[in-house]
Amino acid sequence: MFGKILIANRGEIALRIQRACREMGIRTVVVHSTADTDAKYVKLADESVCIGPPPSKDSYLNIPAIISAAEVTDAEAIHPGYGFLSENADFAERVEKSGFVFIGPRPESIRLMGDKVSAKKAMQEAGVPCVPGSPGALPEEPREIVKIARAIGYPVIIKAAGGGGGRGMRVVHTEAALINAVNMTRQEAQAAFGNPDVYMEKFLENPRHIEIQVLADQHRNAVWLGERDCSMQRRHQKIIEEAPAPGIPRKVIERIGDRCAEACRRIGYRGAGTFEFLYENGEFYFIEMNTRLQVEHPVTEMVTGIDIVQQQIRIAAGEKLPFKQREIVMRGHAIECRINAEDPYKFTPSPGRITAWHPPGGPGVRVDSHVYAGYFVPPYYDSMIGKLICYGDTRAQALARMRVALSEMVVEGISTNIPLHRELLLDEKFIRGGTSIHYLEQRLAARQASQMP
Ligand code: ADP
Repeated sequence: MFGKILIANRGEIALRIQRACREMGIRTVVVHSTADTDAKYVKLADESVCIGPPPSKDSYLNIPAIISAAEVTDAEAIHPGYGFLSENADFAERVEKSGFVFIGPRPESIRLMGDKVSAKKAMQEAGVPCVPGSPGALPEEPREIVKIARAIGYPVIIKAAGGGGGRGMRVVHTEAALINAVNMTRQEAQAAFGNPDVYMEKFLENPRHIEIQVLADQHRNAVWLGERDCSMQRRHQKIIEEAPAPGIPRKVIERIGDRCAEACRRIGYRGAGTFEFLYENGEFYFIEMNTRLQVEHPVTEMVTGIDIVQQQIRIAAGEKLPFKQREIVMRGHAIECRINAEDPYKFTPSPGRITAWHPPGGPGVRVDSHVYAGYFVPPYYDSMIGKLICYGDTRAQALARMRVALSEMVVEGISTNIPLHRELLLDEKFIRGGTSIHYLEQRLAARQASQMP
């Protein structure tokens, strides 16, 4: 096992990874920007290295600075967390070439899955069902593009091969709008991702977002740890996640889970990963794979009892997975609310000093957060300040605990989205379960309309 790990991230996930390391007796090095000098995990780390000024490009995305921090502290491995450099194949390669272990997949896997066209192809070959669409990147010839769209049937969605973070997508309803939409998406894709390739998919009108968590070791063993329903989204950003997904037959989930584990073995995947699917009318359609730890990993940890971060570290150290698929038991239900520093209805970020912080507690309540009373939420980074996770024997119990937890939680000095979560936890359709990816936006639009003078 490693003696020392460098954590190349910030915020709640830096603390989460640090806790996993400390429990395992591994020393931690934290790198941070000048904006995060006072963070709790910086103080708790065995060593910390300031790697630059607040803007991410000068600190958390500064590859040479991170590598030299690992060198001067004699760290053996680097955990990238999520976001920042976690899905950057060049970073993974530089880490390994510099003699450190990258706690994540091989750079080739990151590259394969980072290009959505090659990812879809690999998944089709592995027998994972995909959204019907163009056979690969779209050709130049407009007539060919029109033919492809007709074969798929409108509406279609044009997506950037190199896209991410919900950007570089455009829905097209009519043939008249098609070519213009393709050209605009190409231009955007070139500007944002440095890759003009776009592809086409059938636009699913009312899907749910269901994803499968996998773990694969370096000895060709792969398992899946159940599914998560992340359909409660705004602008493709998840805000509530849960496991298991309400109302989907276990047999259907098992079939898709086994396919995902098989796909991992086929591509020689290593580490934790997530296969994201849209689910509509009883069918799964693969959209992309995330080759990293995800924000919502705790709901899976709560229902499986498996510490995903510790497993990532063990896999990176070359250990074999300590369980077989049939030994993984899902029990109970877990829900996560992402707590963001933002206006609950206008969604404008709300950085600043937290003057009061009273996190909830009690049975089945988990709070993953790095903040405290007196903490200053810097304006430079993502607005998420923590995650509230509630577990129950049943979904109804998990929901009830979440309602109590949200009612106890006090954050003062900044705005948070806690009021929105309180409303959603009382929403009839959400309580019933199985709402689509469009539900939150439709509900927000209706809310706004009802409040017009
Ligand atoms: P990103 O990498 O930017 O997150 P994804 O391919 O995961 O892109 O898609 C993000 C979101 O866009 C999905 O969760 C879904 O809400 C929507 N989306 C993507 N493809 C389709 C599709 N074919 N039909 C309907 N919605 C889609």
